[in-house]
Amino acid sequence: MSLNFDVMQIKIQHFTLFLFLLMSLITTLLWSVSLYTVNNSLNLEKTRLYRENWQIQLDQLQLSQRLWLQQRFMEVAEWMANNTDPQQRLLFINQYYLTYPEIQLIHIDKITAIVSNGVGEIPDCQNLPNRNPVSVLQRDTPLAKACLSMLKPMIGISAEINADKSQKLVLLMDYFSFIDDFEELTGKHFHIDNKASSRYNYVDSSETAESQQIMFQFNREAIHLGSLSVALPVTGFFSVWVEQAIWVLLAVLLLNLVAYLILYRALIQPLILIAKRLKKAVLTRRPGNAYDLQFLTPGLKLLHKYFMHLTYLTKRDHLTGLHNRAIFEERLQQAILEGKRSGRKYALVLVDINHFYKVNKQYGNYLGDGLLKKLASRLKSAIRESDSLARLEKDNFALLLEFVDKDQLTSTIEKLYQSLSRPYSVYGRQLTIGISIGVAIYPDHAQEMVELELKANEALLKAHQDDWPVVFVQQATDEADYSGLSLIQSLRQALGNNDFKLVYQPVMDLKNHTTSYFEALLRWKQPELHTQSIEQTIALAEKNQLIKPLSHWIIETACIQLKKLDDSPLKVAVNLSMIDFHDEDLPDRIGETLNKYDVPPQKLMVEITEGQFMQEPEQVIQILTRLSNMGISLSIDDFGTGQASLTYLKKLPVEKLKIDQSFIKDMVIDEEDRAIVEATIKLAHTLGIEVVAEGVESAEIHTMLMQMDCDYVQGYYISRPIDELLIPNWILDQNRTALTGKLRTKIHRAK
Ligand code: C2E
Ligand code: MG
Ligand code: MG
Repeated sequence: MSLNFDVMQIKIQHFTLFLFLLMSLITTLLWSVSLYTVNNSLNLEKTRLYRENWQIQLDQLQLSQRLWLQQRFMEVAEWMANNTDPQQRLLFINQYYLTYPEIQLIHIDKITAIVSNGVGEIPDCQNLPNRNPVSVLQRDTPLAKACLSMLKPMIGISAEINADKSQKLVLLMDYFSFIDDFEELTGKHFHIDNKASSRYNYVDSSETAESQQIMFQFNREAIHLGSLSVALPVTGFFSVWVEQAIWVLLAVLLLNLVAYLILYRALIQPLILIAKRLKKAVLTRRPGNAYDLQFLTPGLKLLHKYFMHLTYLTKRDHLTGLHNRAIFEERLQQAILEGKRSGRKYALVLVDINHFYKVNKQYGNYLGDGLLKKLASRLKSAIRESDSLARLEKDNFALLLEFVDKDQLTSTIEKLYQSLSRPYSVYGRQLTIGISIGVAIYPDHAQEMVELELKANEALLKAHQDDWPVVFVQQATDEADYSGLSLIQSLRQALGNNDFKLVYQPVMDLKNHTTSYFEALLRWKQPELHTQSIEQTIALAEKNQLIKPLSHWIIETACIQLKKLDDSPLKVAVNLSMIDFHDEDLPDRIGETLNKYDVPPQKLMVEITEGQFMQEPEQVIQILTRLSNMGISLSIDDFGTGQASLTYLKKLPVEKLKIDQSFIKDMVIDEEDRAIVEATIKLAHTLGIEVVAEGVESAEIHTMLMQMDCDYVQGYYISRPIDELLIPNWILDQNRTALTGKLRTKIHRAK
């Protein structure tokens, strides 16, 4: 068990460690993703700023270029206005060009042509391999560079900006605006003379075409008028990641470690502790059954189970699974409230096992627990689902039954009692127990919960004291009498009202023809008032565990009779039922009664039928031995019907064996019966046991039995059972007959 628990502990630790690593991984991932996002947005912002900055610089550069060009243009325009001579103009231009070689005049149409019709149309660009501006740039000629400069605004400066590097952009000139402005100011039209080969011509369209052609030669390198310089320090994600990683990971690990420690101390450790205690509690309360299998389930699942069981234990009785007192009282309180509202009636029924401690003492707690479980399951099946049932403590059970009328309630309780009194088979042992039930009714017996419980307890106590199974709370008024449990109550009433009496049937000694003892037999005082014969009444009492108070009454009445026969040596035999022998207290109780009436034990004889004895021989032998040790004589009744084995007969401390009347009645005509009787007599004598023949109805049988050396006879031939009042007469009579040596039969009818 502890091994499994250790496994659980390790699993929990593994689990938390796994949790810790998972948390670290997740935190690292989260950090990486957020770093990436922040880095990206920072870079985007930088790019934006770069572009803004670049645009400003570009604007400024273009402005300065424009100003420079305007200045040049003003110079040219001024000069041109003052000098109209073409020769001078040409000279001036040439001169001017020498000073400002970067002024290149190219017709806009041709630039369009570079883009649309190919570079072949532009001088110097003719042999370029394709129209790619980059290729144009690679041609290291002034014109090619000029072409590229002119193309730049068209292809977009952004194309040259690579976000990864800081760049230096060189702008040569904004020729277009220069030409436009120049034409506008001068009113002249410029175009490139295709025939001029590698030279650029200036054509003043206001003049006659050919003669006024002015050619500008551009064969110098362009100078640059300014530069654009923007630095973009882009931050690389991975370099930042690597830079931060060690510290961040350390922080993450540290944080998670602290979290793990806090979690472990605050939660896991206490959980393990609770689980350990729960396990202990569960194990000590449920030893060695299928429940143990649960411990094979490891980890938190197991812990969950422990918790569920803890919750269960707070509401349930751990042994029987029934509700405990707390829950029962809650239900009882609710029922009373409900009763107050709706007028419903409830019976609080308390059930208790008589002398339960003896079961534990004799068979051990394990068997005692088993008995309680069986009793609980019988209780469960005896009630409806809507009724409440709980085990209050030890062998004390409580039921809350809602009922409509008293007949329904009394029949429910009677059924309950009958079900609970049936013998129990616990771990291979047959147990018969006495049950006491105390009943109190809401609202008839009490209006509040505490009072109702008190009343029910009083009733239960009374049941114990009176040795009577079911007791209802005593009513001050007759308004609601619930004591009408049909059988149980009628028997109780019969005993209480003295409806029974004992009659006595003499047993004669065949040797000296004297009365040896009387057998006490139960009778209704007024049999005509009862539908059941006495045998049926006894069988019913046996079946319903009511024989105990009945037998007690019989023993007590027999003792009173014996006391009356104080000066006579005659004994009295009482018939006891098997169920009486389940009561460990039987010898003590008999002893107490004998003492009470000051009757020597030797005057009492106990009869138990062979059939009943054979049901539980060991149990009977034990009690019979105790009775025999007290000096009480023992007799086996109805012998021959219960197949008692010789082994038991030898073990038994019996004094007499009573052959069943079924063998005696027909022994004159039935040889087999005769043989059985003869053999039984011989066998009993060999074992040192005396033989009584019952049911002797004729002189022939009587004679035959004498010949067979039978010791005692009983039967109508001698006497029917006689009333106690006739006993003194009988004694006198039998003394007389004994003197003459001849048995005179006198039959007394006893009712
Ligand atoms: P049992 O103990 O074998 O009692 C003998 C029964 O045979 C009695 O019947 C008795 O009246 C009857 N009897 C006696 N002689 C003759 C006879 O010559 N012919 C015939 N036909 N019957 C004879 P009873 O009193 O009706 O009792 C029947 C059984 O009921 C008893 O058998 C006994 O087992 C049981 N019983 C009677 N009284 C008590 C009692 O106080 N306690 C217990 N536990 N059982 C009792
Ligand atoms: Mg008998
Ligand atoms: Mg008998």
